[in-house]
Amino acid sequence: MPSGKTHDKITWLTALPMAWIGWMISHELSVTALLAGCFLFAGLMFSGDLDTKSVQYKRWGWFRWIWIPYRKLVPHRSPFSHGPVLGVLTRLLYLSVWVALLFATLTRVALALDQAQLAEQGFGIAKQTAVFFQNPVYVGVGFIGLWLGGFSHTLADEIVSMLKRLRRKSRRRPAKKHKKKHK
Ligand SMILES: [Zn+2]
Repeated sequence: MPSGKTHDKITWLTALPMAWIGWMISHELSVTALLAGCFLFAGLMFSGDLDTKSVQYKRWGWFRWIWIPYRKLVPHRSPFSHGPVLGVLTRLLYLSVWVALLFATLTRVALALDQAQLAEQGFGIAKQTAVFFQNPVYVGVGFIGLWLGGFSHTLADEIVSMLKRLRRKSRRRPAKKHKKKHK
C-alpha cells in the first residue's frame, strides 16, 4: 500500500480539482470550501488508516487516544475501515459517539464546578452545530467530501496492491520458463 506521504500527496493534488468541481456545480463559496475542507480532512485525518498507527492517527494530537479502541477493534484494511461506504460510515458513527460523550462529560464537569457560563457556552456551540445539520445541502456536501476523501484513500491502496500483485506474477513467470529449458 502507499506510504502516508504518498497518500498526503494524492490528497493535496486532488483537493484542488475537487474544489473546482464544487464551484462549477454550486457557484457558492461556502459549498466549495465545505467540500474541499471535508475532502482534505478525510484524506489527512479521517481515512481508513486510522485502523493503524499512521500519520493520520498521529495528526489527532492530544485527541489521538479516542482512536485507540477503533484501532484495536477494526483489523487493518478491513471493510469497516477501508470499505468504500462502510469505512466512512463506521468512522462517522464512532466519532459521533465520542463527541457526544465528551460534550456530555464536559457539560457535567462545568455544572459540577458551578461554571454555568461555561456550560451555557457549550450549549451555544451545540445549538450552532444543530443549525448546521438542519441544512440538508451542507450535510450532503459534507458527507460527499468525507466519502470522496476516504474513497480516494481506499482506491490508492487498491491500485498499489494490484500493481504489486502484477509485478510479483510477472517476476514468477520467467523463473518457470527458465526451469523448463533445463529439463
Ligand atoms: Zn489504507
